[in-house]
Amino acid sequence: MSSAPSGPELLVSLSRDELAERLRALGQPAYRAAQILTWRFRKRVTTWEAMTDLPAGLRAELAGRFQLSSLEPLRKLGSTDTTQKLLFRLRDGQLIESVLIPASPALYGERSDRRTLCVSTQVGCAYGCKFCASGLDGFTRNLEPGEIVEQVLQAEAMSGERVDNLVFMGMGEPLANYPNLTRALAILNDTEWGVGIGARHITISTSGVVPRIRELAEQPLQVRLAVSLHGASDEVRGQIMPVNKRYNVATLMEACAHWHARKKQRLTFEYILIDGVNDQESEALALARHARPLEAKVNLIPYNTVEGLPWQRPPVERQEAFRAILKRGGVDATLRREKGHDIEAACGQLRRQVLARGPAEVC
Ligand code: SAH
Ligand code: SF4
Repeated sequence: MSSAPSGPELLVSLSRDELAERLRALGQPAYRAAQILTWRFRKRVTTWEAMTDLPAGLRAELAGRFQLSSLEPLRKLGSTDTTQKLLFRLRDGQLIESVLIPASPALYGERSDRRTLCVSTQVGCAYGCKFCASGLDGFTRNLEPGEIVEQVLQAEAMSGERVDNLVFMGMGEPLANYPNLTRALAILNDTEWGVGIGARHITISTSGVVPRIRELAEQPLQVRLAVSLHGASDEVRGQIMPVNKRYNVATLMEACAHWHARKKQRLTFEYILIDGVNDQESEALALARHARPLEAKVNLIPYNTVEGLPWQRPPVERQEAFRAILKRGGVDATLRREKGHDIEAACGQLRRQVLARGPAEVC
């Protein structure tokens, strides 16, 4: 495990109040904070020289104290009208990836005319789910708030298009990096000086960190929650998700009920279908029993194979049969079939390929 890189503070990690505080210490008026953040978040400038309404002396001083960006784009896979994978190098040389998904008629089973970015929150992941590429090499470090926020700025700069939907489904467990996640959310959501993405267009995906689900439920921010279930009984879920030993299915469902009671929007259960592991009728019936009282929507995702792992997706008929059981149980369930989005659920894989073979060989 390593800690966040040292060096000048990252500007995009700071809220307006925090920046105002730093500037006050330098004898600057409070309005400078909004001025600087407007340049960075609204006008998207990446140099201090471009902030033309700041005195030259101040610009030079700020340049020594704050870093404006920290993500170096390394690779882009895919084209504008398909899913694009973006690989970045961080200040300490670590690699992370984001996935840009074009407006789609069937993203998560809903019509979506929004451009979605799937962001990472950690380098690696400590949760060690047996099927997941992100967890294979263990956990390296948490991302700083600015490293989360900057994925959006970079994705927009690289694609030339605005991102208006965010899913925290990239590398890492967002709720295991809770303080930095919530700071990043505040910056991403603020319409006055921040990035300005509506909370209802932000989805946090979690493998089930129960205390943090409860904590997030108390926050006023109306973000959406997706819970990675992947097994509806302790027997099946416990086999593939070590987190289930700490917070079993019953405990997780209680936290989901709490979320449901506190928030107005609908909860989503994500369920990867893995051949012969969690695709049996008994799991579908149990899943329906969990989802129905919570009015949760179920996203069924045929498993994406990961190099070095033995798991496979079930045949299409079994996927359909699983969904039919949920439907009969009165649950709104969608089955993602289109190939184009496979790349999105496989976050963590590009980084692994690059680490294993070197950047030149991945394209
Ligand atoms: N740690 C969080 C968010 C990142 S993973 C979580 O677990 O929810 C985002 C989603 O991708 C999760 O539902 C995860 O289970 C799923 N996923 C991981 N590996 C996958 C694979 N090979 N195929 C399909 N989905 C996968
Ligand atoms: Fe971590 Fe989520 Fe992958 Fe599990 S599925 S190892 S929690 S990133």
